[in-house]
Amino acid sequence: MAEFAHLPERLYLDFDSFFASAEQHFNPTLRGKPVGVVALDSPHTGCIAVSREAKVRGVKTNMPAREARTILPDMTFVVARPDVYVRLHKRILEVIETVVPIQHVRSIDEVVCALLPSEARQGLALAARIKKALLLEFSPVLTCSIGIAATELLAKLAAERHKPDGAVLLETRMLPSFLADLKLGKLPGIGEGMLVRLKAAGVYDFSGLWDLAPKQARAIWGSVEGERFLQELHGTHAPRDQTQKRMFGHSRVLPNDWRSPDRVEDCARQLLASAARRLRRTDLRASKLTLAMRSQRLRSTREKSAQAQRWTWEGQFQPSRDDLSFGRALSKGLGAARAQMRFAPASVSVMLHGLEAEGDITGDLFAAQSGDTRDQARWENVSNMMDDLRSRFGGKALSLGQHEKVPGGFVGGKIAFGRIPEAGDFEDAPTEDGDTHFCSF
Ligand SMILES: [Mg+2]
Repeated sequence: MAEFAHLPERLYLDFDSFFASAEQHFNPTLRGKPVGVVALDSPHTGCIAVSREAKVRGVKTNMPAREARTILPDMTFVVARPDVYVRLHKRILEVIETVVPIQHVRSIDEVVCALLPSEARQGLALAARIKKALLLEFSPVLTCSIGIAATELLAKLAAERHKPDGAVLLETRMLPSFLADLKLGKLPGIGEGMLVRLKAAGVYDFSGLWDLAPKQARAIWGSVEGERFLQELHGTHAPRDQTQKRMFGHSRVLPNDWRSPDRVEDCARQLLASAARRLRRTDLRASKLTLAMRSQRLRSTREKSAQAQRWTWEGQFQPSRDDLSFGRALSKGLGAARAQMRFAPASVSVMLHGLEAEGDITGDLFAAQSGDTRDQARWENVSNMMDDLRSRFGGKALSLGQHEKVPGGFVGGKIAFGRIPEAGDFEDAPTEDGDTHFCSF
């Protein structure tokens, strides 16, 4: 692993002036113009987003609309349409995932991707492919800034470095000079309070921060978090949960009309198909499958202990990477769910784990000539071929058997549901994409 220690294996993607760009995307008459997005049709409210045309002419995000109008008399104001932005967000995730899987959705306009070594080596060419895919699907106004670096923190800082429409490959050897002029307050996680503590410890700029010893960082932060931050800054992953096992999995929150056994099973099969495709992008095999369901979506840990019911099933099998082996395991799990589960699930998750690298597998898997083994080899070829077709013709090109479209239409990277509302969360009738809500002032 040491040779990969500093490969730029995180890609951070941040859309530029997202809400304003979205309005310009859906309404071409707004393109090239200063646009402010406000929460209410009132000149006294602040701009929750302003277009790049407004930014270059001195208008800032959060500025009251009236003040912005004073600076730019020609500025157009529109009322925010969250349901439209969420729908666009979901389409964007799908497009990004045609190029590279998303590891985490950090906000409605920011995602991080964990790159395989082969992807990391593509560097800026990978960023260009993502931008090209987005351009093909959307319009030139919907731009993003991409940072590629060894850790998520560095990749995010790299993306910030060149906005709008930037792409920056930040190699660890470019540090600390590349970020030397970065104001400490611009670093994620460094707020007013932390700035005061850093100053008290004699840290005034990025270089000072860079030079801290881990022990000092821990003392300033008052916790191991300081050391973790410093590690990420120096290009070494410092995940919060060190005990997290490697796995490929997906989970899904189910709307009320998707809680019948048939639909839950349909959803689980789609989640499995997506997890299996991701596994096959590596040289790993999985030997365990976990199927889990919850009676409600968790909003807090307190709720977890108080009310939520959880049902979990784990199946074990020969190390595999084909859809048939995984499908058989899932069928067993779903059978168990039908027999045992006593609640209508509000969320379902499928995880492939017990991972083994190709070279690690010994025993009779390849030596045996049983029908099962031949079958498995054949199904591996079929699975690989289907992945290949999907990558060329799109994810919905083919699948094993019929299935209904999963609500939200997106079975891919894990979405932070807690932060990004679902379509069903909006009480009003959905707004048409092109139905711009112009302000009256
Ligand atoms: Mg943004």
